[in-house]
Amino acid sequence: MSRIPIIAANWKMHKTGTEAKAFVEQLKGLDLSSQVRIWIAPSFTALPVVTAKKTPFVFGAQNMHQADEGPFTGEISARMLKDAGADFVILGHSERRMLYQETDDLIHLKLKKAVEADLLPLLCIGETEHERAAGHTERVLAAQLTVALKDINCAEVVIAYEPVWAIGTGKAATPEMAEHMHLYCRSILADIGHERWAEQTSILYGGSVTAEAARALFQQPNVDGALVGGASLNAQTFYQIIQGVNP
Ligand code: PEP
Repeated sequence: MSRIPIIAANWKMHKTGTEAKAFVEQLKGLDLSSQVRIWIAPSFTALPVVTAKKTPFVFGAQNMHQADEGPFTGEISARMLKDAGADFVILGHSERRMLYQETDDLIHLKLKKAVEADLLPLLCIGETEHERAAGHTERVLAAQLTVALKDINCAEVVIAYEPVWAIGTGKAATPEMAEHMHLYCRSILADIGHERWAEQTSILYGGSVTAEAARALFQQPNVDGALVGGASLNAQTFYQIIQGVNP
């Protein structure tokens, strides 16, 4: 079965609404293939700015709270994100796991709430350098997937394999390494769901993706696109990565 490639931008805490709007205008003006879906996760405040006008892009958020509403100062709900025009939400990013102590159980609750609210979760998983060195990579990925996706219909989830040691370090996984880990993730999806999910679920690679690295990565049969941080902040650079899908 063919999965349509997705190139997703995670802007983290970068770009005001005005800057986000300028980026979107610039990217829209470039020659984009219809064979690739372009997802962008700006800041919460930039979301309604970029979704106010029709564009060929899909917009989403970088995080959300697991409750419907309530006394949670500074948090944002799935319904608020939908109202601001979000169609997807990044969950379980390693920065959330490490800096804000998000656990697999919490990520599971957020994921359930996102699906309920009709927001497509983009679930990030990945091992640290220490876990890889200790030979625990597969165990870590299996646990992250199994807990986060418990009782979830995997058909409604996109996964990003993001080795923590590759994020923002300039040390991307090799295409072969990414392919190997994506295949492993599919085997876990088959175990916890069924074969159809394993085949249908899009698995993106994330971690220091550059235009140079993108082509070889996207040639791997089980790499369905990329989640891009730093290199997504400049429209031209991001565009070059997008072009790597159809060299
Ligand atoms: C990320 O944070 O999701 C990411 C992939 O970052 P970078 O591309 O900068 O490594």
